[in-house]
Amino acid sequence: MNKIITILGNRPQFIKSALVSRELTNNRKIKEIIIHTGQHFDFKMSKIFFDQLDLKKPKYFLKINNLNHGAMTGRMLEEIEEIVIKENPNMVLVYGDTNSTLAGALAASKLNIPVAHIEAGLRSFNRKMPEEINRIIVDKISNLLFCPTKTAMENLKKEIINKKEIKIVKSGDVMYDSMIYFSAISNEQSKIIKELKLKEYALCTIHRAENTDNKEKLTSIFSALKKIGEKMDVVIPIHPRTKNYLKKYKIKTKNLKVIEPVGYLDMIKLTQSAKIILTDSGGLQKEAFFLQKPTIILREETEWIELVENGFASLSGSKKNKIIKNFGKMINKKIKKNGFYGKGNASQIIVNQITHYLNENHNN
Ligand code: UDP
Repeated sequence: MNKIITILGNRPQFIKSALVSRELTNNRKIKEIIIHTGQHFDFKMSKIFFDQLDLKKPKYFLKINNLNHGAMTGRMLEEIEEIVIKENPNMVLVYGDTNSTLAGALAASKLNIPVAHIEAGLRSFNRKMPEEINRIIVDKISNLLFCPTKTAMENLKKEIINKKEIKIVKSGDVMYDSMIYFSAISNEQSKIIKELKLKEYALCTIHRAENTDNKEKLTSIFSALKKIGEKMDVVIPIHPRTKNYLKKYKIKTKNLKVIEPVGYLDMIKLTQSAKIILTDSGGLQKEAFFLQKPTIILREETEWIELVENGFASLSGSKKNKIIKNFGKMINKKIKKNGFYGKGNASQIIVNQITHYLNENHNN
């Protein structure tokens, strides 16, 4: 029996892992152990996802959060290392680009345990983003790299020099798998549209440090949202970090429907029924596309560049006028289906490749 340790820490990682963990459970030759670093820890950002997505209960819960990047990564590294030594797994599996991803990959690679990285090869080419630093390092030290898109494959091929020790696979995007699986359940169970009495509305999420921690940018984004709020409802499931900064900067949200973060099933429903999406989230950009909604990206660049190149999303930054202008351009845009993100079987491809890798390594 092979043993895999999966490192999870924040909301999008819970969603990304849902179908991969199911596949690992179905594959009876692998035992998966979850370490939850505690980066997101409260009910609305963590527990609700474990409940709704029926995720495996973490064997280890580290409670490491609300620290500066160095301290957070350092503490995670120390605690994950201890667990990896004790459990001695055949592989460590990490997702995305957070401090949990970095700490997990570093701890494992220093102990000579192979690392598999899901969502490899994404680049914003903006090293001011902490996530970009994490991605670059994690990709450099991983053995199995699962790319969600063609662009991600191309990025890695340019960067990776020693190709002998690693395997790069175009798997497709695990978030697409999750969307397909859970949208059927969301359609049956979510009552959020009725509860919020919504008709025509825009859905907005904001949580990136580059927007939230900057008073001028956050004020400008919210004045654009208030302007849009004069035409239609603007629903904002508010990230705890953004909530804190709105308070700190005394930004008013008078004509906006600011709500608490919602579970994944309600989020799918909110996205599916919206007229347009405004977001700085990576995950929501793609989900909007899966559900054929035009998107205003509240950033200067994106890792999901195919959405912009094909006119499905518009890079709009944080300036009020640009956001409003692009909102006008995008509001009635029809979004065509396209196979950028695979066929919805990324999780199967990933688990097949992992199994193959582990078998080969065992035989050596
Ligand atoms: N999401 C959610 N509830 C919310 C807001 C977002 O379930 O109130 C989901 C969203 O559908 C997507 C993921 O969380 O799947 C995106 O996470 P986030 O924006 O925190 O991070 P990013 O995608 O930028 O890494």
